[in-house]
Amino acid sequence: MTSAGAARTSILTVDDDPGVSRAVARDLRRRYGDTHRIVRAESGEQALDALREMKLRGDTVAVLLADYRMPGMSGLDFLESALDLYPGARRVLLTAYADTDAAINAINVVDLDYYLLKPWDPPEEKLYPVIDAQLEAWATTDHSPVPETKVVGHRWSARSSQVREFLARNQVPYRWYTSDSAEGKQLLEAAEMDARQIPLVVTPDGQAMASPSDTELAGHVGLSTIPSKDFYDLVVIGGGPAGLGAAVYGASEGLKTVMVERLATGGQAGQSSRIENYLGFPDGVSGAQLTDRARRQAEKFGAELITTRDVVGLEINGSGRTVRFAGGESIDAHTVILATGVSYRQLAAEGCDALTGRGVFYGSALTEAANCKDQDVYVVGGANSAGQAAVYLARGARSVTILVRGESLTQSMSYYLIQQIEGIENIRVRTCCEVVEAHGHKQLEQITLQDKNTGQRETVDAGWLFVFIGAAPRTDWLDGTVVRDERGFVLAGPDLVVDGALPTGWNLDRQPFHLETSVPGVFAAGDVRSESAKRVASAVGEGAMAVMLVHRYIEGLS
Ligand SMILES: Cc1cc2nc3c(=O)[nH]c(=O)nc-3n(C[C@H](O)[C@H](O)[C@H](O)COP(=O)(O)OP(=O)(O)OC[C@H]3O[C@@H](n4cnc5c(N)ncnc54)[C@H](O)[C@@H]3O)c2cc1C
Repeated sequence: MTSAGAARTSILTVDDDPGVSRAVARDLRRRYGDTHRIVRAESGEQALDALREMKLRGDTVAVLLADYRMPGMSGLDFLESALDLYPGARRVLLTAYADTDAAINAINVVDLDYYLLKPWDPPEEKLYPVIDAQLEAWATTDHSPVPETKVVGHRWSARSSQVREFLARNQVPYRWYTSDSAEGKQLLEAAEMDARQIPLVVTPDGQAMASPSDTELAGHVGLSTIPSKDFYDLVVIGGGPAGLGAAVYGASEGLKTVMVERLATGGQAGQSSRIENYLGFPDGVSGAQLTDRARRQAEKFGAELITTRDVVGLEINGSGRTVRFAGGESIDAHTVILATGVSYRQLAAEGCDALTGRGVFYGSALTEAANCKDQDVYVVGGANSAGQAAVYLARGARSVTILVRGESLTQSMSYYLIQQIEGIENIRVRTCCEVVEAHGHKQLEQITLQDKNTGQRETVDAGWLFVFIGAAPRTDWLDGTVVRDERGFVLAGPDLVVDGALPTGWNLDRQPFHLETSVPGVFAAGDVRSESAKRVASAVGEGAMAVMLVHRYIEGLS
């Protein structure tokens, strides 16, 4: 771990003689202290450690000034090792007259930029002109620091892909480096990691994490993962449009509100490249933009937004409702809104599971699009989500083939999107077609398609397969507490009444409110609700409406 600090251009000097080291640093500081950070070290090892820290923080280093004769790591060895971390830094060797020959030889070995003879007095004549020239030469090339989060990984590493997806969906700006790129190698070296430990994530303040979990990542990029209170008026479970809607209305209407999200706020909508039918956005809005605004709005009103916490249990304790997280902790509240939406269904084709994140992707079209430039891409699915992904991917890919089981898109996709697709030259639609196998060792290489009518199979080369084949609610954790339909969607309001009877256990002398579930004070909003509209607008609307019913329920408690 390294310490925090602002990114600044540095001049580093290393000399094993503390007196000389201090003297060089003092002279440098006198002339350059206002514009540069002067870093002093007394051994090559110490200097390399300092450089590693600076690299991870995203600092820039303009000049390295090293004494030739040092016990342990010599000045030349240090400058050679420093090349891996800061190849652009100017390298100056400080030598005694007797070592001039060695310094001249070193010009070729470590690509030395200058050698400076000791003593350097007066610095105005002997030191500053040399350093000025080096700084000038350094400034002519672009060394702009990268203060954002950096991710070093491999294109075909599933965890690297998940980490990027996580950051993108949580609107955390990051820069991506492949582990075999020069910058990627430098970052790995700086973090003293090898390529097998990827992904490496480096936070803007220079902390390096090897293959972090989502929760570790969230904690280091400024996302809250721990609720601040034990008791709330309202716990909203799920951070998609319904959950965000509920958080905005709940907090703005004075309820102590916390929203708990498993992965990233925005839910399915956050994965949409362009939502064209949401009221008030005639030119469309990307899911990321909508999420960012909604999140800021919820926070402005004082809602707490917790990410990377999976809710795995709901208990009834008198008038309190206990929401339990994976890991054991829990929070209590007067009321709960279930806004857990739906999750992508997995493709059953043989070989797909093993290649997920390595060519087979579920809903990560936005993150992976840049990698698909000039490549042939396959999209599975016939609904709007598949159509939107195809349109988005077609901007960079050489070709996009939409694979649909049905005979046409008209049954499953909006008319405006079908028209859009028809107007894009590099999109092709293959109907009556199923993916039955995925092949590849380290990454997806081929897929086998089957014609649904003839049964004929064909294996084609494919490096990219984006799957959008519908979704299902993940509500098993509500077993035995909340009544659901046969597909797992939560029943609420009038849908709870079967043949005039309310569900067993309902013991209030009133009917359930419109979005209220079989547990009083627990509401359902958005896609997770049985027979819901499966649209952004309706999810947001239900989130808002559920809050209105929360008020009614809380009033009834007193
Ligand atoms: C690619 C794509 C494009 C789309 N385009 C459009 C469009 O153009 N127009 C339109 O109207 N609709 C569109 N939709 C549909 C729309 O996005 C959904 O109807 C809407 O997002 C539903 O919102 P929700 O909040 O109910 O659920 P979701 O968006 O599914 O959000 C639920 C959230 O709950 C979280 N969660 C689930 N379980 C737990 C748990 N146990 N603990 C904590 N958190 C949990 C999930 O991680 C998720 O973030 C699109 C969907 C997709 C996938």
